Amino acid sequence: MNANHRRFWLLTVGACTCTCAVLSSRVPAQAPTPSFVAEVKKAEAGSELTKQQEHCEIDADRLAALGAKPGQQARIYKDSSTFAVYTLIPRQEEPDTIIRMGLSGRQRMGKDAPDSFSATVAIVPAPRSELTDEQADTQGELVERLDDDGTHTGLLIMAPHGGEIERPTDLQSIRLKEKLGKPRVSTWILKGYDPPGPQTAYGRWHITSTEISEASYPLLAQAGKRRYDYAFSFHGKAAEGLLVGGTGPMELKQEVAEALKKAVGDKGVEVVIAYQGQPLGGTTPSNIVNRYTDRGIQLEQGPTARREYWKEIADAVAEVYRTKL
Ligand SMILES: [Zn+2]
Repeated sequence: MNANHRRFWLLTVGACTCTCAVLSSRVPAQAPTPSFVAEVKKAEAGSELTKQQEHCEIDADRLAALGAKPGQQARIYKDSSTFAVYTLIPRQEEPDTIIRMGLSGRQRMGKDAPDSFSATVAIVPAPRSELTDEQADTQGELVERLDDDGTHTGLLIMAPHGGEIERPTDLQSIRLKEKLGKPRVSTWILKGYDPPGPQTAYGRWHITSTEISEASYPLLAQAGKRRYDYAFSFHGKAAEGLLVGGTGPMELKQEVAEALKKAVGDKGVEVVIAYQGQPLGGTTPSNIVNRYTDRGIQLEQGPTARREYWKEIADAVAEVYRTKL
């Protein structure tokens, strides 16, 4: 915990409305905060949970009593500086204070990942959007930003893994909107930052695009109240190259892929259109890029493309949508 982080913590805990002393020592003030102290246990042998690092199983009645929905996210705190966002999967537990995670899930809150430890489950918005980007960066926090007029039905540009989760996808979203220079364009961006200490932005904040819940991201809920002609999301992947996916029409994917090939194809960046069901292909209807439009396109980008050509890529995408809006 650095000096800023410690100061933030000292400032916020005093205002916590939780009645339990243990809670108030762990959870920052986001009152009122439905929360409880849980005992984290291992996933049961053979459970699907062992493969899901972002999932946490929780008793269904306990979940309902907290006013939370199955599949929404929660912040789970091992201690004041060690926590992560998890997707809540309901099941039956006795006692109902048990929550379960697989090994990779427990490792998000520390590589030692003991089989059992106490933690606080807080049903709060995943982001703390009252912070400035600079504060969020210093504190290793997550903020949500929406640039939207609340009425148009043109293009929704999305970067669910911006900041230091998948760099520089937030900058690409902003650049695409600027390059288009049109009124019927909005951006919705999550920016998550590396915390002080061993945790990473990815490990603390990444929730897969099919599971990001409007219940936990208020500005996504706001943007998602209406439908759009188009949605486009920027992502980063570990493997090199560009993967054009989503459930949008094949002609649109081809158009995007051609524009990308023209921009970066001669720089050794391979451009591929995802097949139905391809991992990272964004072809699931519940993916946020497909939820609010019939023309969702997801772009996954390898490290070189993002590091060397992120501007060229955003500009190539702008060429495709310019004539459509
Ligand atoms: Zn991503």
